This record gives sequence, C-alpha cells and structure tokens, in this order.
Amino acid sequence: MAKSLIAEGKRCLQCANPKCSKGCPVHTDIKEMINLFLQNDILKAGEMLFQNNPLSLICSIVCPHEKQCEGNCVLGIKGQAIQISEIENYISDYYLNFVKPTHHKNTGKRVGIIGAGPAGITIAFILAARGYDITIFDAHDKIGGVLMYGIPEFRLPKTILDRIKNKMVEMGIKIRPNTLIGPVLTIDDLFRDGYKAVFIGTGVWKPKALSIKGESLGHVHYAIDYLKNPSVYDLGESVCVIGAGNVAMDVARTAIRKGVKDVTILYRGDMNSIAADKSELEYAKIDGVKFEFLKKPFEITDDGVLYQQTIVEKDEWGHDLFTPIQNTEQLFACETVIVSVSQGPRNNIVSTTTGIDINKGGLVSTDLEGRTTREGVFASGDVVTGAKTVVEAVRVSKAVADAIDVYVTGQA
Ligand code: SF4
Repeated sequence: MAKSLIAEGKRCLQCANPKCSKGCPVHTDIKEMINLFLQNDILKAGEMLFQNNPLSLICSIVCPHEKQCEGNCVLGIKGQAIQISEIENYISDYYLNFVKPTHHKNTGKRVGIIGAGPAGITIAFILAARGYDITIFDAHDKIGGVLMYGIPEFRLPKTILDRIKNKMVEMGIKIRPNTLIGPVLTIDDLFRDGYKAVFIGTGVWKPKALSIKGESLGHVHYAIDYLKNPSVYDLGESVCVIGAGNVAMDVARTAIRKGVKDVTILYRGDMNSIAADKSELEYAKIDGVKFEFLKKPFEITDDGVLYQQTIVEKDEWGHDLFTPIQNTEQLFACETVIVSVSQGPRNNIVSTTTGIDINKGGLVSTDLEGRTTREGVFASGDVVTGAKTVVEAVRVSKAVADAIDVYVTGQA
C-alpha cells in the first residue's frame, strides 16, 4: 500500500492553482500534504491535516471524494486523478497515534456540547485547544453519533472512534455518555451550573415515516434504527428497502453482510433521480443488492409491499415528480421491509427550552455562524442542515467554534 502511495504522490503535479483543494469543503492543503509526505515529514503533514480538520482520518474514509478533492484533481480530466484520500488516510491514521493535542492555559470557562457527533467532536477539539473547560453530553454510550451508530462497520472501522475519544480525554474533555439533555437535565440547568455557552449538535435521529397503511406491522423497521444495532434484528431471507439514498445503500449492504439472501431497493424514481452517491450505488450493486425502479409503495402487508408504477416528470422548478400510473398496482413479496426515506431531528431540547426557534421540518434555526435565537446557545451539523456529509459538519463547525469563542470571551 505505502509503496504505491509514494508512486501516487510522485504523480502529483504540485499545481500552482490546485483545484483539488478548491473542491474540498475544508480546503485541505493537499499539495502541501503530498509534498511533506514525499519529504518524509509525515508528522508535520499529519499535524497540518489535524489542525485544519480534527476528523481528517474519518473524512479520508467517508467523504464522497469523487465529488470533492479527487473529482477536481486536474489529472482526472484526461486520466487518473491522484488517490488523495488514500494518502490522507495513511498520514492521518499514522498521526493519530502521535497527536499530542496542545491546549492553552485553562480559561476556566465552561462550554457544554450536546451531542458527540462530527459537529460536537470538531468543536470540542477546537475549544479545548483554546483552553475551554469542555463537557460533552451524549444520549448514546459511545461517542461518534452518526459515525458510530449510522455508518456501518464495513465502511468505517469503529476503533477509530475509540482512538479519537482517547485523544479527547487526554485533552481534558469530559464526556457524559447515556445522558439525554431535555427530559432530566435541561439547557437552563447547564447555564445555572456555570456553562458560558451551550452547543447543540444532536443530529437527526427521528426516522421519517412513509405514513402508509401497514407501517406499524412487526416486520417493518426504520433504517436509522436498524443501523444502530443490526445484530438484534431477525430479517429472514428477503428484505425490501424503501428509498434510495446513501442510508438505504448502507442498510442494504449491511443486511447482505448479516446473511440476508435477497435484498432489494424499491424506489419511486429512476436511476437518474437516485439520491445516493454514485460510488455507494456501485458498491451496493457489487455487493449483490437488487434494484426495482419506478415503484411507489402505498401499503405494506404481511406478504410484502404494495406499489404502483410511476413515471418521472418535472415540476415548474425542474424538480422530479414521481407520478403514479393508474391500474398498475402489484405486490413486491418480501419477509421484511426497511423504510429509509430520510430522518429529522428529535425535539428533546427545544421542547424543554424556551427561545430556540426551529423551522417547519424541526431543524434548529441559526445564522451562518451557528447562533440560535437564544443567546449563548449555538448549533450546527445535521440538526441545523438535515443529513449532510461529515466534512460539511466540520466546515460549518469550525466557524461556529470561533463564534462561541468570541461570544464567551466577550462575556464578563
Ligand atoms: Fe496534485 Fe491533482 Fe492537486 Fe494538482 S489537482 S496539486 S495534480 S492532487
């Protein structure tokens, strides 16, 4: 692996105007990363990556590189783009063993972080390095949020999160697992106890229902619930996954790995309207997932999913419309149905805290630097934007960390 990575690094043209970095949401200095790697200065390369993105190792694995750095590499126009993600992965994996997170003299100022997902971890690392007294509250027993409970092990080895957690503890970050803010402790309690600012990064854990007949039957499950702990589910021999986003691909590929013989994705649109990244779709096909397009479910029965055929049309804004065709009703037979048509936020916090506005979909309203409508309360990540990529959460959260710093520093 390493030998081919060196050859790969040597192919880099060290462009004067590197398009790879422009394609990266956090503008990773890829040219310099490759340069340092080839000069045997891996620690410096690792530090540079970590300072810019504390989740560099995770991003090297789960980012849609074909749309970002690698998709913009100039060598990809006529040939093969540099395998930037592989080089970043090698460096960041190595560096995580040696990272000695520096932190300035303790400011003694407490910041509470609710949710240990990508946004919360990023902000915790940045503010702890600046001397803040950080406590993270998470409803689950392990850190990582969607990284731990939403992305399957075969795509992201969970030992990485244990290593990241150890670094956080080394920096003095306190973690309260199994602690759901809202029902018992509230944001008001945190301010009472001396927290100067509170950050909400609780993600989107509420499955969106199809709202069709049969959805409460015993052989029907929701994708995000299934991915939390696939081992506890008995799916039988045939599974129908309704939906075609990245989460649906993860569900289908996990079910196959857990021994289900026949896994089919049933989708109301066609190949062109599919929401999953191209690479996720291709891997699903390689893994043996089958696809049924242009089928819109209208009822789930004990025998499977009743659907109508659809045609894809465009509305006046160019959005896809999936129009059912009369008299095309049929049954798709299966033992288990997993519904994977998006997620929204739970409302534990906003229902117990005054002054935090949410939008129609229940997402927390903020300005561009994460300020919510309540003073001292900030938010970013999926709970603000809906489900997005990890690197997007990192990008916004870096700015939010700065805004929290400015806010707390400005307090008496
Ligand atoms: Fe190297 Fe490609 Fe980036 Fe140019 S665009 S600096 S060739 S990785």
